[in-house]
Amino acid sequence: MKKIEQWVRPNIRQLKPYSSARNEFSGEASVWLDANESPFNLPYNRYPDPLQNDLKEKLAKQRGVMPENIFLGVGSDEAIDLLYRIFCEPGRDNAVSITPTYGMYRVCADINGVEYREVPLKKDFSLDCDAILQTIDTHSRLLFLCSPNNPTGNVFPAIEIERLITAFDGIVVVDEAYIDFSSRPSWIRRLNEFHNLVVLQTFSKAWGSAGVRLGMAFASPDIIGYYNQVKYPYNISDLVQRYAMEMLDRENEVRRWVDEILSVRSRFVERLSDIPMVKTVYPSDANFVLVKMVESEKIYLRLVTDGIVVRNRSKVALCGDCLRITIGTDREMNVLLETLKSYS
Ligand SMILES: *Cc1c(COP(=O)(O)O)cnc(C)c1O
Repeated sequence: MKKIEQWVRPNIRQLKPYSSARNEFSGEASVWLDANESPFNLPYNRYPDPLQNDLKEKLAKQRGVMPENIFLGVGSDEAIDLLYRIFCEPGRDNAVSITPTYGMYRVCADINGVEYREVPLKKDFSLDCDAILQTIDTHSRLLFLCSPNNPTGNVFPAIEIERLITAFDGIVVVDEAYIDFSSRPSWIRRLNEFHNLVVLQTFSKAWGSAGVRLGMAFASPDIIGYYNQVKYPYNISDLVQRYAMEMLDRENEVRRWVDEILSVRSRFVERLSDIPMVKTVYPSDANFVLVKMVESEKIYLRLVTDGIVVRNRSKVALCGDCLRITIGTDREMNVLLETLKSYS
């Protein structure tokens, strides 16, 4: 039995997936009478391509992988949830992650009745690899690592992530939602080295498309095969597939947006440090910064009153008195800076 298959839940291993009309016949035809669609209201009358082949082909070229390495989901959130449904037997298996990190890993564990174990980062937000390896046991199936991490903003060194991928007898998920803002290379280029690696990316951040809900998982064809069996047959709508094809053509524009956000971020960080109630601005490889402030809770509420919403992270592990501030336009950051200055 192949390694991946050993980790898959027995019911999923034995699953006979739903076979849609578009699965059973996907070639060309002039008369379509197989899916009980309406003949009216072209082109929306037709079911979308269940495997999003055109979009995957284009994406595969851009990312330097094969279409068989790609799963597309309704946001990365679908890709996260399906990993639990494929690999974690409720009440038996567990998932391991770090804290603080992205909240959906835990929510999906809770929904699926899977134990979720979190290992605190060190005080400087670095990985505690030894503690992670000690937390893992024979029922650990998933290890979530978010890099650059949300909400801390830092990237974890490749050598440490590689150590965990190599040592862990299960699936390592590297969530790269913010990779476009980082100077580090994506783990996608090392997919062929690690059959147990899943890399998550999304259209929601750098690609400016949170509203359309499109996330990507890159992994070995074996893992993608299980994703395809478990997902809803037509999870990505035709509208979204077309939109994403157009977005991929705008890669250069996206690079310019990223450059702009990075330069706004560096100006913002510089000016933020001059404000007396700001204690620490943590270094960021993402489109947000984590900021420790004097009495952050009060500042958060005052900002809300002034019509400015940031993310209050002060109740999160290691983030006492911290706000997470997304980098917007220069104008938006100036409004925030002027407002903060008016409080002191
Ligand atoms: C924003 C974010 C995502 C994106 O999720 P989508 O469902 O694709 O919008 C994924 N992971 C992390 C860590 C995030 O911060």
